[in-house]
Amino acid sequence: MEKYIIHGADILSFDPARAYLSGHALQVENGIITKIAPCDELKDEHCEFIDASGKILMPGLINAHHHFYSTFVTGLGKAAPSKSFDEVLQNLWWRLDKKLLLQDSYMSALISLLNAVKKGCTTIIDHHASPYHITGSLHEVAQAVKDAGIRASLCYEVSDRDGLPRRDEGIQENADFIKAYQGGEDPHLRALFGMHAAFTLSDESLGKIAAVVSELNCGIHIHAAEAQSDQDYNIKHYGKHVVERLRDFDLINDKSILAHGVHLTPKEMLIVADQGAAIVTNPQSNLNNAVGIADVCKMAELGITVGLGTDAMTVNMLQELRVGLWAQHLKQENPTAGFMEIASTLLFNNPAIAQKYWGAGHGTLVEGAAADMILVDYDPHTPLNAESWMGHVIYGLAEANVSATICGGNILMWDGELLLGFDEAELRAESRALAGALWERF
Ligand SMILES: [Zn+2]
Repeated sequence: MEKYIIHGADILSFDPARAYLSGHALQVENGIITKIAPCDELKDEHCEFIDASGKILMPGLINAHHHFYSTFVTGLGKAAPSKSFDEVLQNLWWRLDKKLLLQDSYMSALISLLNAVKKGCTTIIDHHASPYHITGSLHEVAQAVKDAGIRASLCYEVSDRDGLPRRDEGIQENADFIKAYQGGEDPHLRALFGMHAAFTLSDESLGKIAAVVSELNCGIHIHAAEAQSDQDYNIKHYGKHVVERLRDFDLINDKSILAHGVHLTPKEMLIVADQGAAIVTNPQSNLNNAVGIADVCKMAELGITVGLGTDAMTVNMLQELRVGLWAQHLKQENPTAGFMEIASTLLFNNPAIAQKYWGAGHGTLVEGAAADMILVDYDPHTPLNAESWMGHVIYGLAEANVSATICGGNILMWDGELLLGFDEAELRAESRALAGALWERF
């Protein structure tokens, strides 16, 4: 359909200027939102009309920190008991990622992407690792993104932990992918320079990475101060906190994403704010790894754009948002603290972060933006209006069904049915076989 109009739904635009709209219709032409207006003004258009009564129309959701490859650990019980975050890395993730083959990178991404479409997510910022099959791995993931029909920013996580030849291969994989996709010709794909974390990268490695980042004028995507151990290591070996060390290599710029930031000092937060970089909080992952809760209220107060990611704990952004709010209550020891700060992560800041890569309007329903949007079955039993909509998102919509997902005007899911041309049962059987073989190698 080149042109269609959705009417009958209440609209949550994620545009603060007109966040809640009732009695309006939205027109899509060639993948772009061309008009949002009262229904009467659009009723004479010649095109298909889609009745979305009883539903909420809102932007496709954005996940600002994810790992597609983690999809293959669901149910894996073989990891040894871990008493700290460092042991979780040693016993699970760094054992698993070594065993990933190129076909695992493709399939784990595709399954995660289809799950994301079902939960109304249309943009994902991913961080990939497969240290024994690095070259070409981002192209495997990219193919899965194209096959699923949504959008992703990809990177490869460079680290010293598997030796310097693999570090260099990782640097090259990032550089090649950034050159291919940074220009923005492909509507689905963007690229950042991926780094694991400061505690697995020497000064020599940071210097090499900084040269590439400067040459390609790109942002980085790194885990920063996820656990206190990251800070302890950097202070012990380099006499600097994580962000100070990265800043000294000019690695923190306005396109950069620092995941977690649980143990950042106020001084480091000010550096992030000054450089215009984003921090992406991942509350469910932080709770699961018992590393602490990021002080999102403090970060917001200092002017940082704090986004929301899932770190692969889920693809359900509305579930992550709820947990984020409750975690912040606990962090601040105040059951009303942080409502706007946390709500803003998903509703306003994730779009602001994605707009750095995909352009103005991305992640919001405004005229001129890409038609990335979802319909949610939601017939509110309390007043839904310009004052109450954010509370409805967290306490109501988060438990409702996403019935349709649309990206670039293409309908990827309708009435809960994926329309991507896959035999989903066959695909999941194939995924079980690949994941089972991975578990055998683990
Ligand atoms: Zn992560």
